[in-house]
Amino acid sequence: MFSLMANCCRDFFKRWRQPVRKVTLVMVGLDNAGKTATVKGIQGESPQDVAPTVGFSKADIKQGKFDITIFDLGGGKQIRGIWKNYYAESYGVVFVIDSSDVERMEETKETVCEVLRHPRISGKPVLVLANKQDQEGAMAEADIIEYLSLEKLVNEHKCLCQIEPCSAALGYGKKIDSHIRKGLNWLLGVIAKDFEALHERIQKETSEQKAQEEQEKQKIAERVKRLREEREERDREEAEREGRTLVDEDTSVPIANPFQPITSVIQENEDKIRKEKEKKKQKMQNGQAVSDIPLVAKTGNEEAESGSDGGESSPVSQDGHLLESYKDALSQKLEQEDKRETDQSKKKTKKLKLKRNNKIEPLGQEEPEMENPATPLPVGWGTPKVSRLPKLEPLGETHHNDFYGKPLPPLTLRQRPNSDTHDIIS
Ligand code: GDP
Repeated sequence: MFSLMANCCRDFFKRWRQPVRKVTLVMVGLDNAGKTATVKGIQGESPQDVAPTVGFSKADIKQGKFDITIFDLGGGKQIRGIWKNYYAESYGVVFVIDSSDVERMEETKETVCEVLRHPRISGKPVLVLANKQDQEGAMAEADIIEYLSLEKLVNEHKCLCQIEPCSAALGYGKKIDSHIRKGLNWLLGVIAKDFEALHERIQKETSEQKAQEEQEKQKIAERVKRLREEREERDREEAEREGRTLVDEDTSVPIANPFQPITSVIQENEDKIRKEKEKKKQKMQNGQAVSDIPLVAKTGNEEAESGSDGGESSPVSQDGHLLESYKDALSQKLEQEDKRETDQSKKKTKKLKLKRNNKIEPLGQEEPEMENPATPLPVGWGTPKVSRLPKLEPLGETHHNDFYGKPLPPLTLRQRPNSDTHDIIS
């Protein structure tokens, strides 16, 4: 009596002292077999209206001294290939069968066979859930064992196996089908019994799988590299044949720093302005030269020039003609304005006279061409204000004016101490 009590106490303390064991299980089976419904039921969630699993889902549950992770893997034909990626870390397998789907029993047999045959599953415990027993025409447990040749299969692959007829849709949580609970307890019991050996195997196979995956990744990377090199070689050969120079993809073009010191930016702008002024000056000189030609030409070919309205004339003579017409039109306009405004104020007349005396130079190609200079000029066109040339400023110096045109003191730059930035002080 005493020894019996002592044994009981020892067992109790042994279990109590047992560490929490982390266990991973894979739940596999054809699509629509009821895997997700089963996992939901175990988790305590309603298995009604579950959506078919796409890819996989993971469920974490606690049972006794076990922290269980269940990988609910999608069962579609295309996705079954991913199952093997989860075998290495699995301590056991739950295979769910739709017992009512007799038409797919052959496919089920092939799938079970493939799973148990896998080297990372062989020797591990397998729980077969013959689900949907509530459905009419569902195959009984014995028929399924026979149809699948389950005994032979598990013996061949040294898998401890238990089959449980059940209905995942009938209840969940505490009201879950007792066969499911029984089956799960059996599986965890077998795992617990052989935990150390299983754990060691899982560690080993997991690191092997990782190394294998790493190798495969490397292989893929090498293949991609080789293909790229081959393509580059082909491109180079093609470019050589066509006499093109191939831009090396890897040679990166150095990008200029967009943040330049302000002094260099100002210098650059001043250079630009100077160049533009020089260009304008050049153009004006050219324009003057061109304006001289038709004046001379007109003296000799006046009649021919005047009669060549619609005919073909050289650009030089056309320019000269335009210039003359421009001058005539302008002086006409000025005279008209003069007459109209003589009575107004002396000051204004004086100003107009001054304007008339202004030397009007052709603006070269920039000046808009007149189609018919004899016709009255459009409003605002050809008035001395418009045609007056901008006053040229000495080269190399930039003047800043205020809003009223009053000249402002030149800008000075002050560099900040220990910094590349500059403050502009006016
Ligand atoms: P999975 O593709 O294997 O994950 O299958 P699901 O869990 O998504 O279930 C597929 C369908 O079967 C769902 O409509 C479930 O409601 C239904 N189902 C699952 N288990 C049972 C069951 O035991 N009985 C009945 N009648 N239907 C079930």
